[in-house]
Amino acid sequence: MSKKQKKMLTRIIVSTLLLIVLHFLPLTGLLRMILYLAVYLIIGIDILKKAGKGIINGRVCDENFLMTVATVGAIALALYTESGDYNEAIAVMLFYQVGEFFQSYAVGKSRRNISALMDIRPDYANIERDGKLEQVDPDEVAVGSVIVVQPGEKVPIDGMILEGNSDLNTSALTGESLPREAHGGDEVISGCINMTGVLKIQTTREFGESTVSKILELVEESSSRKSRSENFISRFARIYTPAVCIAALLLAALPPVFNLVMGRPAGWENWVYSALTFLVISCPCALVVSVPLSFFAGIGGASKEGILIKGSNYMEILSRTKVVVFDKTGTLTQGVFEVSGIHHNEIEETELLEYAALAECSSSHPISKSLQRAYGREIDRSRVTDIQEISGQGLTAKVDGRSVAVGNARLMKQLEVAYAECHSLGTVIHVAVDGSYAGHIVISDIEKPGSRAAIAALKKAGVTRTVMLTGDTKAVAEKVAADLGVDEVHSELLPGDKVGQVEKLLADRDAAAKLPPGRTSKAKLAFVGDGINDAPVLGRADIGIAMGAMGSDAAIEAADVVLMDDDPLKIAKGIRISRKCLAIVYQNIIFALAVKFVCLLLGAVGYANMWLAIFADVGVTVIAVLNAIRALRVHRL
Ligand code: ADP
Ligand code: MG
Repeated sequence: MSKKQKKMLTRIIVSTLLLIVLHFLPLTGLLRMILYLAVYLIIGIDILKKAGKGIINGRVCDENFLMTVATVGAIALALYTESGDYNEAIAVMLFYQVGEFFQSYAVGKSRRNISALMDIRPDYANIERDGKLEQVDPDEVAVGSVIVVQPGEKVPIDGMILEGNSDLNTSALTGESLPREAHGGDEVISGCINMTGVLKIQTTREFGESTVSKILELVEESSSRKSRSENFISRFARIYTPAVCIAALLLAALPPVFNLVMGRPAGWENWVYSALTFLVISCPCALVVSVPLSFFAGIGGASKEGILIKGSNYMEILSRTKVVVFDKTGTLTQGVFEVSGIHHNEIEETELLEYAALAECSSSHPISKSLQRAYGREIDRSRVTDIQEISGQGLTAKVDGRSVAVGNARLMKQLEVAYAECHSLGTVIHVAVDGSYAGHIVISDIEKPGSRAAIAALKKAGVTRTVMLTGDTKAVAEKVAADLGVDEVHSELLPGDKVGQVEKLLADRDAAAKLPPGRTSKAKLAFVGDGINDAPVLGRADIGIAMGAMGSDAAIEAADVVLMDDDPLKIAKGIRISRKCLAIVYQNIIFALAVKFVCLLLGAVGYANMWLAIFADVGVTVIAVLNAIRALRVHRL
């Protein structure tokens, strides 16, 4: 409990006790009024202040204002009728404060729970100095330092294992419950928990650039992006509260005037009381609290499963996804190519591979990493200069002063090199040295084990169209598409063409929905990529989903949703999580509005008193908050 909450609780208890004591004292007249007013101020002073501030700032009609008008009105009525019954005004304020207290307690607690679930921030890193381990702030560890991670500790910084074997628990990052084996030479990402062996890790990033820091940043930012449902609430409140105030005024004034006109007694007190009750009923607390909390819980639950959703607006779009467009390499396939053949011209096979690997030394494309691995030897970067990467085609560079071009047929055509066609099935990487053709390397990629199931799961989740886009050759693209069961495939695309294809699909969808121009369809389009040559596409789709482990930093920046473990099956899971979250949001909105509506009707015809009103509001808020917390439980979805 926070300090503020303790203070609140004290005020609630003190004023309750005072109210009971006053009840048994035979007080009358002025003294009675002063003592009751004192209790009213003890419990309600902050609400009065907030209402006052609201009026000064021009935000007249909020719930503080409603409570103030209702309770001050009730006191005024008690004075006017000389009934001396101040209990109701005080009790309404008291109940309201109990509700507020519970709400702030529940919200605070569930926020803390959610944050604790995502507690992956490491507090320290171990550095070995003179044979002893020293704990240092991970922020102070320079790139390339060697850190030691003992069993049971979190890996604090991204790096590569120098020494040791162990099992890593990645569940906090990916939701994957099976531990993953790790050996010397493997890359490890921060946030995993080291289970069995001592690991010596050479850091490859600074702490601030490491996976954990990135994730935490994303999650923290995510709560500031509002979804349409949340905007709906604030738009709603802007119209709703003034409308309620006007309705209350009419309720207080019209019937008595009507009575007067008809020659009956006006009955002011009754109608003013009804109007005040009406005001109490109309407080929209449950909505205001539970909607953001539901989104927050949903985002927390998803991130436990390794799906980072960067904002509640994306949660909403994800739940409406009907078209999913994939990039091939690194998204549906592993992006780990094996060399399946080398066909050379005049130069030696090893020399061909050496030129290719050297020229590729600084590219981040999966093809480059694969060629370097196939070459297998240390790469002397000083031999390579003038590297020019041509995205979607390949690259050119100077190796030992000779100009080398490595890439697909399109690149060769552009450089006017007479290349040989190759008929093996696979991705063909042509190499030209000093403008003449040197041969090609045939490489082939492996489909990710989960890809086929991922496409099937999407279909089951109601996705109507799956499309694969790739810069690779037609033969390779069609084989992969057929293997995986993708509906549609477009190949030999440059990065710009991929944007064009997505725009065409968006236009198609809008045309199918027969919308007036300028409106976009409710069926949303998601693009899934690794960000290599496709970051602009990630931005163009309704929602961009990036592969987080393999993907480039640019992709993680550009994407709206990041899959921590690159598993395409998580796309369908993300959709299911978002549907559950949105269902809870709508349940809360409808439930709260329905109860409000019934109470308002009862109040308008004089059947509800203030006690019932405040009880209904607190009750609805509690139920809505409990329902919101359900959005956190998504593991079995
Ligand atoms: P995808 O759409 O499958 O992700 P890209 O658009 O990244 O593929 O690349 C398309 C094609 O361009 C590749 O299949 C390859 O032939 C060629 N290419 C791209 N980058 C490189 C590179 N660094 N080295 C060699 N070839 C490349
Ligand atoms: Mg790609």
